[in-house]
Amino acid sequence: MSSPTTTHRTQVLVIGSGAAGLTAAIAAGRNGADTILVENAGFLGGISSTLPWLGFHDRDYRLVVKGMPLEFCRRLQAAGAASDFVLDPKCASAIGIDSHWWKILLMQLMREAGVRVLLHSQVVDTIREGDRIAGVIVENKSGRQRIEAGVTIDCSGDGDVAARGGVKWEKGRTADGLVQAPTLVFKLGAVSREGFVAGCKNPANNYREWLAPYPDLWEKMMRRIDRMDLIICGGYAALIEKARLAGDFSVPQTRIVGVKLHRNDEYLVVMTRVLGLDPTDITSLTDAYSKVYEQIPVLTHFFQKYVPGFERSYLREIAPMLGIRESRRITGDYVLKAEDLIAGRVFDDAVSMGGYHIDIHRPAGTWVDSHNVRTYTIPLRSLIAGGVEGLMMAGKCLSATHEAVASTRVVPICMGQGQAAGTAAALAVKHQRSVRELSISELQDTLARQGAEFGRTLEPPDQRAIDEIGQLPIDEPPTTGDRDAASAAAGAWVERR
Ligand SMILES: Cc1cc2nc3c(=O)[nH]c(=O)nc-3n(C[C@H](O)[C@H](O)[C@H](O)COP(=O)(O)OP(=O)(O)OC[C@H]3O[C@@H](n4cnc5c(N)ncnc54)[C@H](O)[C@@H]3O)c2cc1C
Repeated sequence: MSSPTTTHRTQVLVIGSGAAGLTAAIAAGRNGADTILVENAGFLGGISSTLPWLGFHDRDYRLVVKGMPLEFCRRLQAAGAASDFVLDPKCASAIGIDSHWWKILLMQLMREAGVRVLLHSQVVDTIREGDRIAGVIVENKSGRQRIEAGVTIDCSGDGDVAARGGVKWEKGRTADGLVQAPTLVFKLGAVSREGFVAGCKNPANNYREWLAPYPDLWEKMMRRIDRMDLIICGGYAALIEKARLAGDFSVPQTRIVGVKLHRNDEYLVVMTRVLGLDPTDITSLTDAYSKVYEQIPVLTHFFQKYVPGFERSYLREIAPMLGIRESRRITGDYVLKAEDLIAGRVFDDAVSMGGYHIDIHRPAGTWVDSHNVRTYTIPLRSLIAGGVEGLMMAGKCLSATHEAVASTRVVPICMGQGQAAGTAAALAVKHQRSVRELSISELQDTLARQGAEFGRTLEPPDQRAIDEIGQLPIDEPPTTGDRDAASAAAGAWVERR
């Protein structure tokens, strides 16, 4: 293997520009650290650039993610490139963004924060000196380069830095190591909003299964649906069954999952699906791409033929990257668990928050396993890689169990973690200390000054919204049907608690 031709040196190095990495890099830059952001793709944003953002709010309809992620929303809204927040009884809230404007804004944000960006650059090795992670080796058009850093933050989604640096990680669920099913999302255009909403109003379609057991919630949704900017779907099981029996549906999915986007005629389909993927195995990954590209025409024809409002729709855009919901999770100083989320645990070293439900797209079955949560905090210790110095992580790589990461993985919560990790890394290099030796109060004060929410400025529950929208109970009945062997075996994890 050739030796690196160039050596870069930086105080903070962030790998991956998804929701977590982009926010970590901007936070580090804004807090005065010399920062490099390395990204494999030719654009910034990772999966956040391909879909609406869910979960800025909690089940009491108050903002639990603020700071930089909220600032990004406001800047997009000011540019006419994002919807208002739409409150929702299952996902708490959704905001629609215009993907292309988000990518444009991201370049500007990096320039403003003084972050040096390396695109089309892949981490191929990790520099480990004893028990310290000292940077990475990347490959790109210029050849092989060495990047040395004071603190490295792994936001690759796959824990690539940790895995190549011999740092402990886990992947998938305990029973069989399988990760959540991945999905390549795509957009349909020329959808009739009126036709689609009429279909949602027909109870026979059961467009949102979560609401079916609660007539009160259903009625409240029906009262708002005509004026909602975004409409989230998870249902239509009978329609899919009808299409399957007619030989028109061969995708391993039994519900319509998707979002009627804020752009009037656009719908995001979240239904391609591959069972049993290993996202860190290139043969498995390539096979997944081959399968989802086969499924897109099947799904497009299904929508045109069966779903109200889609009669004239057409395939408008396929996302640039397969959506991997889960991959390597780096084992940190604390492993966040489902119990912490369901209990709404408040940690002394809290640095960000979340309130999104646990949302597991079954690794080898269809539909989801789900559990609602209370508003919880994320501790700094879950952002620090265990057993080494110099390595942090955020986003899908967070130190959390398969179940907990199924809540913390949504865009706003990943961004909140990113702001915390980037700020902690900047303070650590400033004080020439390990992140473990940081004063928690100094870090929390800095985050609070910069608008981040970790419990200090949480508003009371929004009673008006609760009355208007309603609330699902914390303990819902387990989702029915379509369980794969591991989620059915010995009862799903939810029932084992
Ligand atoms: C199909 C799907 C639907 C979803 N729907 C929603 C939704 O509607 N709303 C919501 O809020 N959340 C949703 N989520 C969750 C959320 O979008 C993701 O979990 C979140 O965006 C992950 O952010 P991340 O920064 O951890 O990872 P990613 O967005 O995956 O970013 C990782 C980045 O690292 C780069 N990278 C990887 N390896 C390397 C390497 N070796 N060298 C250099 N760069 C590398 C990648 O190119 C990528 O840009 C969905 C997820 C999926 C998969």
